[in-house]
Amino acid sequence: MVKKIAIFGAQGSGKGTQAELISENCGLIHISTGDLLRQETQQKTELGNEALEYMNAGKLVPDQLMNKILDKRLHESDVEQKGFILDGYPRNISQQKSLSKITDLTEVLVVEITDEEAVRRIGGRRVTKGGKIYHVIYNPPPKDLDEEVFTRPDDTPEAIRKRLAIYHKETEPVIQEYEKQGIVKRINGMGSIAEVFELTKKVLKLQC
Ligand code: AMP
Repeated sequence: MVKKIAIFGAQGSGKGTQAELISENCGLIHISTGDLLRQETQQKTELGNEALEYMNAGKLVPDQLMNKILDKRLHESDVEQKGFILDGYPRNISQQKSLSKITDLTEVLVVEITDEEAVRRIGGRRVTKGGKIYHVIYNPPPKDLDEEVFTRPDDTPEAIRKRLAIYHKETEPVIQEYEKQGIVKRINGMGSIAEVFELTKKVLKLQC
């Protein structure tokens, strides 16, 4: 059966990094709604321009906009054939309802860290335009990297606090809903990237 997984975790939990590892090593397609939106903003599409204002303020972009981009991506043939790991969606109950009309998830992975650790980690986060994620101490960019690394505009302390508050208020109830379906697996995200990846593979029963 094709795996259709959503990964949850506060900003800085390392969920994007884990999703990337699963995609590289285990063949699932990584769908990051943050990356999809950043692509739209970089290409200066109408949708991207509309989203940019919300993103830079640390707010969620309106559901209608978000659902449109995601719906399109979930119906592409690579995703339908290989399965996916969805990262950054659904972030609220309304998005969850929209997703349930398109597809059912097979598993939900929650990477747990404390808020203090989240703030500490995000302060050191660096990214590339190509979607790579690094940390100045825990996962520094390689010296021969051919892309520029930069701090995301929404990784300011103020925007981080706002995003964490949204996570607790709007996204945690989504996880509670999936708990009722019995598909939630929780792991401790406080370890190293490699340690957390081992836990990830184990709970998701990934053969890779
Ligand atoms: P991320 O890279 O997942 O931290 O997302 C960065 C920003 O993109 C968020 O702060 C939101 O502004 C926007 N975003 C990403 N995913 C969603 C979503 N599912 N719904 C609304 N906005 C989103």
